[in-house]
Amino acid sequence: MTTADGAPAVPIADLFIDGKWCEGATGERFPVTDPSDGTTVAEFAVASDADCDAALEAAASAFPAWSATSPRARSEVLRRAFEILTAEADILAEIIVRENGKAWSDARAEATYATEFFRWFAEEAVRVPGEYRLSPAADKRIIVTHQPIGVSVLITPWNFPAAMATRKLAPALAAGCTTVLKPARETPLTAAYIVDAIARAGVPAGVVNLVTPKASGPAVTRMLAHPAVRKLSFTGSTEVGRTLLKQAADRVVSTSMELGGNAPLIVLPGADLDMAVEGAYIAKMRNGGSACTSANRFYVHDSLHDDFVEKLGNRLAAVVVGSGLDPANEVGALVSLYERDKVAELVDTAVGEGARVAVGGTKSETGAFYAPTLLTDVRHGSTINRSEIFGPVSAIVRFTEVDEAVSLANDSEAGLMAYVFGEEGQSIRLAQRLNAGMVAVNRGVVSDPAAPFGGTKQSGLGREGSSEGILEFLETQYIAVDA
Ligand code: NAD
Repeated sequence: MTTADGAPAVPIADLFIDGKWCEGATGERFPVTDPSDGTTVAEFAVASDADCDAALEAAASAFPAWSATSPRARSEVLRRAFEILTAEADILAEIIVRENGKAWSDARAEATYATEFFRWFAEEAVRVPGEYRLSPAADKRIIVTHQPIGVSVLITPWNFPAAMATRKLAPALAAGCTTVLKPARETPLTAAYIVDAIARAGVPAGVVNLVTPKASGPAVTRMLAHPAVRKLSFTGSTEVGRTLLKQAADRVVSTSMELGGNAPLIVLPGADLDMAVEGAYIAKMRNGGSACTSANRFYVHDSLHDDFVEKLGNRLAAVVVGSGLDPANEVGALVSLYERDKVAELVDTAVGEGARVAVGGTKSETGAFYAPTLLTDVRHGSTINRSEIFGPVSAIVRFTEVDEAVSLANDSEAGLMAYVFGEEGQSIRLAQRLNAGMVAVNRGVVSDPAAPFGGTKQSGLGREGSSEGILEFLETQYIAVDA
């Protein structure tokens, strides 16, 4: 297999610093594993403290020139990255499958979704808003403009290794910022492929850097203390996000935080049952359940409960699970045996707390697979109901009053995503009562580069995508001029 311009499609497994691929200063490497069979996909370079410093300094040196390029020039680099990755979407999807384990259809959808952020922010780069107006006292003109914030550290998780990287890189570059990307240790190959595509699109040396330290905690603490860093954009767990917010406070580094979810999915009386079952299936099983937006807590009205359980159960029981390299498999592996065992433990705990396994409930002998699972008789407030499952497990709670469903849904410290199935007008009115940054009405997926993605409460701060995403990388500047 070769790339569109003829380069061999061997995964890149090096650091990218100041426009060059390089081994880390120590020459050390760590294995990247295929979770479906435990084989080593590549040995990736470890970034030492010196490598992380070099990446930050390259980003700092590149900032004055990159921030001074025209918005059109930055837009065109992003557009070329969009075109390169569109042509190479199958290669990108294969890398995602190899190191993350997800199903081919999920990986291919992610490749497209990830690439769209380059197109979207190529279009946003030339549309940064500003203001020019007379003050109320007519003593001056108020000019409001935006400046790129500066060197940005971008930290991404393993569950969407391509899309979480492009959702940060594209707006940062569009805004005129320079970047150091630190991907998850499980999925650095996808990040490296994307960085290479941006380099091939013509981004100048130092504007995009990639580092993979051995231990993220100490390395990121050190990076945030570096005087060049002005921005931290993080996607990952609430626990790590909270730690990073405290660390960012020391130098008052601007932060954007996309953190964990625990999405409720409400099926109202009067919902179209088939639509609810299909939507619930997608909301749960997209990405094998390893999505921050995954439906986690199902609240189903008494009048539809038994039929919903039966239909969703039949759908889940028929799912074909297996390696993502075979497109016939609908659900792939979890990212690691550790994640698989965490899901298994949550199901065991749920059963201990009174839940009943209607479908699934088993883990694979080999490979990080967990069977699509349906739990009934789950109690609101039980361990599984309070946890972000991050696997293919649907946990059903029955309700009788609509107001009760709203308060159960809102009874969580997470506020990223919610789903409502029911008559459209009633569902939209109910959506407005939910404490969630995003609500899907009668559909199982919301993600779109053109829409604001982000959470309330402990699910995060700030928004990615849409016209808001670029503002996360810009500072507002007010200039006063005599009237
Ligand atoms: P994680 O928090 O363990 O790791 C995320 C990133 O932070 C990785 O790059 C990791 O190496 C790094 N990291 C880990 N410990 C760190 C530390 N002490 N200091 C600095 N960096 C550290 O999360 P994960 O397990 O990779 O991803 C799953 C989580 O991400 C879930 O909670 C999920 O909901 C969340 N997520 C949120 C969104 C969103 O947009 N809100 C999107 C995807 C995933």
